[in-house]
Amino acid sequence: MTTLVLGAGVIGLATAYALHKAGDDVHVVERLDGPGLATSFGNAGGLCPGFAGPWAAPGMVAKALKWMVAPSAPLKIRPRLDTRQWAWLLQFARECNADRSAANKRAMQAIAHYSQAQLAALVEDTGITFDHGHGGVLQTFRSEEALDAGERAASVLENLSIPHRLVPPHEIAQIEPALAGSSAQFTGALHLPNDQTGDCAAFCQALADWLTERGGRFSYGVDVQSIRIKGARFEALETAQGVIEGQRVVLAAGPFANRLLKPLGSAQPLYPVKGYSLTYELDEDIAVPRSSVMDEDSKLMFTRLGNRLRVGGVAELSGFDSTLRAAQIGAIRAETEALFPSLRGLAEPTPWCGFRPMTPDGRARIGAAPGLDGVWLNLGHGSNGWTQAAGAGQLVADLMTGRSPSINPAPYEPN
Ligand SMILES: Cc1cc2nc3c(=O)[nH]c(=O)nc-3n(C[C@H](O)[C@H](O)[C@H](O)COP(=O)(O)OP(=O)(O)OC[C@H]3O[C@@H](n4cnc5c(N)ncnc54)[C@H](O)[C@@H]3O)c2cc1C
Repeated sequence: MTTLVLGAGVIGLATAYALHKAGDDVHVVERLDGPGLATSFGNAGGLCPGFAGPWAAPGMVAKALKWMVAPSAPLKIRPRLDTRQWAWLLQFARECNADRSAANKRAMQAIAHYSQAQLAALVEDTGITFDHGHGGVLQTFRSEEALDAGERAASVLENLSIPHRLVPPHEIAQIEPALAGSSAQFTGALHLPNDQTGDCAAFCQALADWLTERGGRFSYGVDVQSIRIKGARFEALETAQGVIEGQRVVLAAGPFANRLLKPLGSAQPLYPVKGYSLTYELDEDIAVPRSSVMDEDSKLMFTRLGNRLRVGGVAELSGFDSTLRAAQIGAIRAETEALFPSLRGLAEPTPWCGFRPMTPDGRARIGAAPGLDGVWLNLGHGSNGWTQAAGAGQLVADLMTGRSPSINPAPYEPN
């Protein structure tokens, strides 16, 4: 059985791996020149099931409105004459009530924790390396309000039996010594010792190489223009270079998927939420996180990836505008270097931006495309795609091959 996987981001590659293990001949089709070059390239590097949860939460609408006028805010809505943006925002607002938010969190936690186990199995099986770290994540708070929210998050973790610890301010530097040099006044922190870190782009490249060595096919530089359907059944992918045939296709095209799904009447509630990252090269031994710090105040994540420090964050709803705004980069840099002053003498960090494939409820869409036969979706992983990839790949492969999935697929059913 030849299965086409459309997209060589982390979701497409994890899907291709699971299908290869299930015995399919996989053919990955990607418009860029290699694997992991779009959203999966420069993310914050956190493999963080403990943090998995929706952005849509009680109080979020008021916060988002306040942030619209703040000069440097972690979430920025730039209103556009775009009905998709407004429809998405309305759905997002509807998901902000306590019951929906709690249900979305449960669904996201389930796939994220499943994924952690699947990633461990994948690493064991393939032996691939990608600066995988097991040092946990420390979430820092700088206000009483943020600390209260952290305490609420801790009680959810308690109910789910996820190892965690609320850390008083004077113990923060024992976990991440680099924070001792920071000028920030912390009110406390939440430590998740089992969360992990890793370079998503390196993972994509290594997994693509592993699959290639075992007969997986990769067609790079091929832009799929449409999905050809006959009756309601998948027939082929149409590209500028000709037609690519297979028995079925998994669409793992990240934020770009609706261009292909809309003409089929199967569009999903996806909006591209732009984020930034900066990567510092650490050529000497300086005080930076040994693992990962998630600063709740700036909503920036600081992750050690071998001899680099990756800083990721910011959420801009501005369509597919890939401008690297100097003011935004300056603000991230200033925040980073205030927390970790030892970075100040280093060479300029490399900036990047990408588009999170966000759904309003935060849940991914994994399963058969509604009304179509042979078209499968693995989409909408938002701000957690790296964390969820191995589990999401296995889940869609199980559904496609008729194996009973290890987690309930219902919460991720495509719209
Ligand atoms: C700033 C930032 C920080 C983040 N931090 C984290 C984090 O710490 N932890 C975490 O878990 N997640 C994080 N994420 C989210 C994570 O990076 C994404 O969820 C994930 O990369 C999405 O992967 P994907 O494979 O769905 O999409 P992509 O990586 O975008 O892959 C989709 C691929 O499909 C290809 N494609 C699309 N359309 C076509 C077409 N028509 N023809 C051919 N090819 C096509 C694209 O070129 C692309 O390569 C972050 C994201 C951002 C932006």
